[in-house]
Amino acid sequence: MLRRTCSRFAACSGIDFLINPTPEHKALRETVRKFAEEEVGPQAAQHDLEGKFNRPLLKRCGDLGLLGITVPESVGGSNMDAAAACIVHEELSRQDPGFCLAYLAHSCLFVNNLYWSGNEAQRKKYIPKVCTGEHVGAMGMSEPGAGTDVLGMRSNAVKNASGDYVLNGSKIWITNGDVADVYLVYAKVDGRITSFIIERGMKGFTNGNKIDKLGMRASTMCELFFDNVVVPKENLIGEEGKGVKTMMRNLEIERLVLAAMAVGIAGRCVDEMIKYANTRSAFGQKINNYGQIQRYIAEGYTETEAAKALTYAVSRSVSPGVQNRIGSDATKLFAAPVSKRVADNAMQVMGGMGYSKMMPVERLWRDAKLLEIGGGTIEAHHKNLAKDLTSELK
Ligand SMILES: Cc1cc2nc3c(=O)[nH]c(=O)nc-3n(C[C@H](O)[C@H](O)[C@H](O)COP(=O)(O)OP(=O)(O)OC[C@H]3O[C@@H](n4cnc5c(N)ncnc54)[C@H](O)[C@@H]3O)c2cc1C
Repeated sequence: MLRRTCSRFAACSGIDFLINPTPEHKALRETVRKFAEEEVGPQAAQHDLEGKFNRPLLKRCGDLGLLGITVPESVGGSNMDAAAACIVHEELSRQDPGFCLAYLAHSCLFVNNLYWSGNEAQRKKYIPKVCTGEHVGAMGMSEPGAGTDVLGMRSNAVKNASGDYVLNGSKIWITNGDVADVYLVYAKVDGRITSFIIERGMKGFTNGNKIDKLGMRASTMCELFFDNVVVPKENLIGEEGKGVKTMMRNLEIERLVLAAMAVGIAGRCVDEMIKYANTRSAFGQKINNYGQIQRYIAEGYTETEAAKALTYAVSRSVSPGVQNRIGSDATKLFAAPVSKRVADNAMQVMGGMGYSKMMPVERLWRDAKLLEIGGGTIEAHHKNLAKDLTSELK
């Protein structure tokens, strides 16, 4: 007799070896799933409605060792890899993608970026407090005139007589910008991109009001303004003019965990539509008997599993020491539209109930769209991939 590979949806297609590559990854997934179901899910609808970031919940992530997942234990991290980071983002995103985006800005855009680009003194000074959640982190790269064209940024820092830097300019769409204590900010020095640590409270540094948005509403974003901010030379990250390299390196893991968020949204939507189709009746039958509904479920499940397999396969070759721009761009390019389509399938299967705020699918459908914009638009991935692939073939 044939044996079923498993009883849970997540592993039925046989890719458990990819999504939980070691017993440690499996244990991490179980811990985060339990935490997310018990503590993240229940607060999601309210924080979405209010457009509010849940700071105590981020602190809870610190208690569980999730805030420094990709940095060493010596600074308060968990010393795990990109697959582990994907597991955390997938599981948090199943429950609350908005909160997960705030988590991403903190743990990936600030903690991971600063640890792997900074020096020992900076690691010692800043990383432990962001690993516990005492401090919240953010990253400022995008500007009003430079998003996809990020290298065209105008923020500018000039060295003064004492060797410190005077920073002028602004940033926009900065997740956690209004709640953070510490920021990793990119600006040009003599026309070359350089990164700095900026602290809340530095003279001349302010943030704008929260910018309201369609989805991901449990994370907040705003503009940042720098008006002759004196940045101590100790806050220069790495070498002057070498910021592009570290920016690109961190964008790879960012794109990968954004893909993992897409997988989380899609997986949850598959579960929700199956539950609904199994109980809802129309014309005297369960709607799961109708071929059109079966197609939404089957295609949604298949696309989710494909996105998941690609995400976790690529995660094995993304690390601070290994470059994989092709893999991370391709993964996000594939996974982001999957989450949008599968959320749409789920809403269609659930009819009015899916469109209403009584069910999480309405929120997940709004949240999914961001993944085609943030961390690189779909068109940016086309551009990068075509450039990298065609130059490889030359
Ligand atoms: C919710 C949210 C959170 C964010 N969080 C952060 C954050 O924490 N830190 C941060 O620095 N940034 C953040 N961003 C900014 C995000 O990374 C940018 O929005 C994104 O890179 C796109 O830039 P843009 O919005 O300026 O769009 P634009 O670059 O102006 O693009 C507009 C359109 O033109 C297209 N386009 C541009 N160039 C090309 C081209 N060469 N070929 C074809 N099409 C092109 C784009 O794909 C898009 O469709 C966030 C954005 C959002 C919405």
